[in-house]
Amino acid sequence: MEKYNSQLLTAGRAGLYVHIPFCLQKCPYCDFYSITDLSLTPSFLQSLKKEISIGSRVALQFDTLYIGGGTPSVLKPDIIGEIVKTAYQNLNILPDCEITIEVNPGTLKAQELVDYRQIGINRVNIGVQSFLDQNLKFLGRIHSAKDAVNTFEWARDAGFKNLGLDLIYGIPGQTKAYWLEDLEIALSFKPEHVSCYMLTYEQGTPMDRRRRKKCFQPLADKRVAELFKITAKYLVARSYQQYEIANFAISNALRSRHNQKYWSFAPYIGLGPSAHSFLEPVRYWNHSNTNQYISSLAAGQQPIAGKEQLSEKQLMIEAIYLGLRKVAGIDLDEFERRFGRSFDSLFEEEIKDFENKGYLQLAEKHCALTRDGMLFLDSIAAAFTGKDLT
Ligand code: SF4
Repeated sequence: MEKYNSQLLTAGRAGLYVHIPFCLQKCPYCDFYSITDLSLTPSFLQSLKKEISIGSRVALQFDTLYIGGGTPSVLKPDIIGEIVKTAYQNLNILPDCEITIEVNPGTLKAQELVDYRQIGINRVNIGVQSFLDQNLKFLGRIHSAKDAVNTFEWARDAGFKNLGLDLIYGIPGQTKAYWLEDLEIALSFKPEHVSCYMLTYEQGTPMDRRRRKKCFQPLADKRVAELFKITAKYLVARSYQQYEIANFAISNALRSRHNQKYWSFAPYIGLGPSAHSFLEPVRYWNHSNTNQYISSLAAGQQPIAGKEQLSEKQLMIEAIYLGLRKVAGIDLDEFERRFGRSFDSLFEEEIKDFENKGYLQLAEKHCALTRDGMLFLDSIAAAFTGKDLT
């Protein structure tokens, strides 16, 4: 294999992610790292500030700061303000930085949103999940549909012009009509960004255990696939552009600048428990344990739990998997510049096969999944990446 062109991957601006590891209550389907013991907040904050200052040694320019979790909105705005301020003091944060906070309805009031604006946050992503109470109940969310509506309206009233909503579909008993009702309510608020995630039963979660015990009947795969297809159709017909399997924005400029970094191999630094960082070709991740995170930093050590140096083959596999998630697909010229191999020659057979099935299209120097193909992302990516690439 020719030499992998690593310079291409480090080019461009970096993203900064801060993981707030607290939630008021664990949702039964969730496998993100978070805890409900908020008494650890002061020592977490002290440790995070220390970790940010260690990060100042990284000579990167950040044009995104994403405060996610967990539920960042369980922390008071002055704490969030301290985090943002510490990042500005220690890292090279560019003036046009996209600064996002994830908030969950039921954990904040109108004033908090006003305070976020004053801190400099310019994008809010709201974990609505559904505007229908029966769905929120099944998902074990702490909030009601009314809380979701209030949060959105408070955010608009506070002056935010870049608001995103997260929705979940594929919920047991969900009909096409119910899902369309959810989407219709969501769009009635004119969000700039909508993310629609398929409910998945992650191993080890309470919801997965209940599913295995047959406490409920999951929605049949065929029905989930129908909901997936009508999602894009519905949103695109109403002027939202799909740019990734689950993500839609009202314009190019209002796509999530931060999340696009993950799909395009840009460098990013993750701070806080369980956060991952990628500085090509190295990926490393922090302890998924807040106490361990705190004690590492207290001992003057970086809270890193693991590190791996990706081989050329691993980088190629990631480029294929992440590229296929994007509606624009894999950029064939860029692939060749990076790996010194032509994607379409390397995978001629696979491309032909999936094109014939209507799952893939090769056009304008890009190889992208069709909407039907997106349903089979994992198996299609596996067919490419399972090939002997030597
Ligand atoms: S609020 Fe979000 S991060 Fe917290 S448990 Fe629920 S889904 Fe997971």
